Amino acid sequence: MGNTGGKGLSLARRLYTSRTLGLALGLLCVSVAMFPLDPPLWVWALMIFNGLLWPHLAFQWARHSSTPYHAEYRNLLIDAFLGGFWVAAMHFNPLPSATTVSMMAMNNVAIGGLRFLLAGLAAQIFGVAVGLVVFAPAFIPQTSSMQLYACLPMLMLYPLALGLLCFRQAHTLGRHKRELLALSRTDSLTGLLNHGAWKDQLEIAFQRCKRQKQGAAIALIDIDHFKAINDTYGHVAGDIVLRQLSKMLKQNLRATDVAGRYGGDEFCVILPELPLFNAAQAMEALRERFVTLGYEQNPALKVSLSIGLAAWDPSHVDATRWLNDADQALYEAKAGGRNRVICNCDKPRQELLDSV
Ligand code: GH3
Ligand code: MG
Repeated sequence: MGNTGGKGLSLARRLYTSRTLGLALGLLCVSVAMFPLDPPLWVWALMIFNGLLWPHLAFQWARHSSTPYHAEYRNLLIDAFLGGFWVAAMHFNPLPSATTVSMMAMNNVAIGGLRFLLAGLAAQIFGVAVGLVVFAPAFIPQTSSMQLYACLPMLMLYPLALGLLCFRQAHTLGRHKRELLALSRTDSLTGLLNHGAWKDQLEIAFQRCKRQKQGAAIALIDIDHFKAINDTYGHVAGDIVLRQLSKMLKQNLRATDVAGRYGGDEFCVILPELPLFNAAQAMEALRERFVTLGYEQNPALKVSLSIGLAAWDPSHVDATRWLNDADQALYEAKAGGRNRVICNCDKPRQELLDSV
């Protein structure tokens, strides 16, 4: 049984609500069944303790425990034990007994699956055995109409409340799952898509281009001499540059463009339905704007970008070939002296940019 304080505490909080309601309704059910048996005072005291005080005591016990999860497991076994005890005390009066046993089973299986269900059943059987020793074994085969009405609130309200709690928990889990998925696809420093998530988008864009025979371009953007920036101004300044570039990408691209951080100081963009000429224009504008940026902390710092562009081509057999073309163009931008945009296409490389 895994255990962390957080997990146990949230379980204790959830059980506090269901236990408080369930045992208060159970008190009504059991006390009306016990009334004709004229039980001694201590039995009434125990009934009231179990129905009204125990839920609060159990919660505090779990809350202050160093292992709340284990404490709640123990509390559930005590619940089940006392449930069995009351079944024997009621002399197995059919409806209150079945209500007590089934509601507890529903609770246990909802909280801990088969494991809790079986452990709860064992504790209930133990409770019945102790009840048989304390009270003389007997069987009351009939449930009076008063006893039936006393069980109705439990039968109607408790499943509703437990269902609502389970729904809320499923809803919260669904939200957490979506948040985790978003986190697993996001680069934590820049908030852009991370490498894997961007590659997924590239594959989608590639398939769309193939299906619709529609153009698109991708750009690989690399910061020039970024290692030297880190070495000269420090990694914090380097991080600011990375964030600045991602901010500029978010602000200057179209809503349909997909930007990501490929890794380190390298960024990547998908520019759907954009001819290479326009993509080159957009990247050239980005390069120019970035090189003129000033940095408050380091006024002397000037950062340039090398950008490799590649248009989708029907001859690309897969998205990797397309990416390789952009990589090749980036390599040429670096080799050609950096701070430039190079396109990988059939036309002479520089021709497009000269016309920008
Ligand atoms: P080039 O002009 O050829 O691209 O040279 P470069 O120095 O930019 O390229 P290189 O690949 O040698 O250096 C990239 C550096 O980016 C090395 C690494 O320490 C740094 N880097 C990678 N991730 C981060 C990060 O998250 N923050 C910071 N500050 N630096 C990072
Ligand atoms: Mg670099």
